[in-house]
Amino acid sequence: MFFVSGEGAKVRDVSGKEYIDCVGSWGPLILGHRHPEVEDAVEAALRRGSTFGAPTEAEAELAELVCDRVPSVEIVRLTSSGTEACMSAVRLARGFTGRDCIIKFEGCYHGHGDSFLIKAGSGGLTFGVPSSPGVPAALAELTLNARFNDLNSVEALMSDRVAAVIVEPIGGNMGTVPPMPGFLEGLRELCDRNGALLILDEVMTGFRVAPGGAQELYSVRPDITTLGKVLGGGLPLAAFGGRREVFKQLAPDGPIYQAGTLSGNPLATAAGAATLRELGRSGVYDDLEAKAARLEEKTRAAIAATDLPLCYQRVGSMGTLFFNQGPIESLDSLADVNTDLYGKFFHSMLERGVYVAPSQYEAAFLSLAHTDADVDHIAESAAAALKECAVGG
Ligand code: PMP
Repeated sequence: MFFVSGEGAKVRDVSGKEYIDCVGSWGPLILGHRHPEVEDAVEAALRRGSTFGAPTEAEAELAELVCDRVPSVEIVRLTSSGTEACMSAVRLARGFTGRDCIIKFEGCYHGHGDSFLIKAGSGGLTFGVPSSPGVPAALAELTLNARFNDLNSVEALMSDRVAAVIVEPIGGNMGTVPPMPGFLEGLRELCDRNGALLILDEVMTGFRVAPGGAQELYSVRPDITTLGKVLGGGLPLAAFGGRREVFKQLAPDGPIYQAGTLSGNPLATAAGAATLRELGRSGVYDDLEAKAARLEEKTRAAIAATDLPLCYQRVGSMGTLFFNQGPIESLDSLADVNTDLYGKFFHSMLERGVYVAPSQYEAAFLSLAHTDADVDHIAESAAAALKECAVGG
């Protein structure tokens, strides 16, 4: 599909057809398309110069907003993508601990860095190549894969070779998979006991599920956090940040190298700061929760009206309708998911003017721009699409 424009919660394709957007550019657009504050901030920044390759006040303002909202982030470094942030976070953890291995989770996605494309989620799952050709075997050996929500599987892999455990605190790239009670706290404990760092990849969840991200929601304090998507307000911007002691080892303060020509560039920082300022208004997260709860209630009613094995999982404004009976606790729970039927559902939703992710292994996102009427249209379309799926099989 090719899109030509977006406005609020709607997008328009090249044929002129309009859709309610439940993808939101895969997460960044929590304010919807073309939010006036974001647009004005970017336009004003553009008129002052798009990049200087040197610090600006806007970059410092954004850094302060991040550290205020996410207390575990004492120092923050901006990058241009979530992939870069995660790659750099792992290098920092390796350099700081002097260890080479990392533990990640099957079905989690941390961008397309070589160390992550081993049993990865998102596109890797969709296209059936969770472990990508092109990743050197010698490097792949250093990535150990555990089972999401299974502390025993982590303990079994833990050793004094492990530099870090990296995890999406809420699985988002195999569909929405909340952490079970005690899982994130258990990871914190296992890392502490073994001298490994805990990296929470909040590229998707940061500023989305709570002002301080999933770590605020579940009261867990990582050593390093990666952020992106919402942080950039729709422009290319991400970040990694965390404990002062660790970040003092990052260049130029320390020897562990990281850099980027356009990192923290004025257009992206303007969009990001405007977005975070809007999200600082009171009631914003309650508003998102109310819309998402309304959608959940109506979706559950639609599920109840069919015989199909379906399951809906949600945290705040991210959620997934799974085409199996659930509950989904890890990638293993998705072994029998019906992706063909999901494909049918996707096309049926498109026909009804609703754009959801074209893959089962993704989260849907609501924004502050979605109205109750939009939510009702999504839910009514889902009910009709599911009926169609049930008939066609
Ligand atoms: N981590 C997570 C949790 C993500 O969801 C993504 C993107 N889907 C990334 C990292 C990579 O970010 P980017 O696409 O900006 O490189």
